[in-house]
Amino acid sequence: MSLGIELSVEQLEKFEVYLNELTRWNSQFNLTAIKPPDEIEIKHFADSLTLVSGFDSLGLENSIRVIDIGTGAGFPGLPLKIALPQISLALLESNFKKTGFLRHIVKRLGLENVTIVYGRAEALALSPDYRESFNIVVSRAVASLNTLAELCLPFCRIGGLFIAPKKGEISGEIALAAGALEKLGGSLASVVPVKLAGLDDNRCIVVIRKISPTPARYPRRPGVPGKNPLK
Ligand code: SAM
Repeated sequence: MSLGIELSVEQLEKFEVYLNELTRWNSQFNLTAIKPPDEIEIKHFADSLTLVSGFDSLGLENSIRVIDIGTGAGFPGLPLKIALPQISLALLESNFKKTGFLRHIVKRLGLENVTIVYGRAEALALSPDYRESFNIVVSRAVASLNTLAELCLPFCRIGGLFIAPKKGEISGEIALAAGALEKLGGSLASVVPVKLAGLDDNRCIVVIRKISPTPARYPRRPGVPGKNPLK
């Protein structure tokens, strides 16, 4: 893969351990539908790392705080942490079984400054520990952009970024999310096309800048952003 990221031997070894542990746990817990090792490398690891290009505009100083909403088995958050060890990372996940794997893999990889947060984004976004506390919010394969914006933007600091990898035709999804972005304090900054080796499926990363505070009434109750997306 060529993503403009240079990984050291130590970082590549961490990816190998991650691959092996994910495969081992997957046989018992069904953490991901993608099982062949070469597909895990491309569709999980490389796909997660495409987000690095969206981080560029904020710089990568030590204090940068990143949260991954609905991280599942750690995507895209953990590949980003392996590639950019200086970030401080929170992994938020509402499935307890998956948080068990996350605790295991973070320890096994010896990663520092990683917090695993169990619960629903709609509830945790109301906590002062998390609300408008992160420079960058990432989320992959959790919901369409209108719903996702309500789950993610409340966590983002003013001036920070919410970055989501997407594939397929994205312009309709972006148009549908325009009202939600405006209500939640977000503004579309860019849509960056990305290409993964051997895949021709119109991938991109959508970068949204937080330009004003999210009103206290958002996010709505758990489940509501998905059932009745903001317009
Ligand atoms: N982001 C991972 C990836 O790309 O492989 C996992 C994607 S999986 C399809 C969606 C994950 O989001 C699930 O693990 C689910 O439990 C979690 N999730 C869905 N809604 C959530 C919410 N409201 N708060 C926290 N986690 C949520």
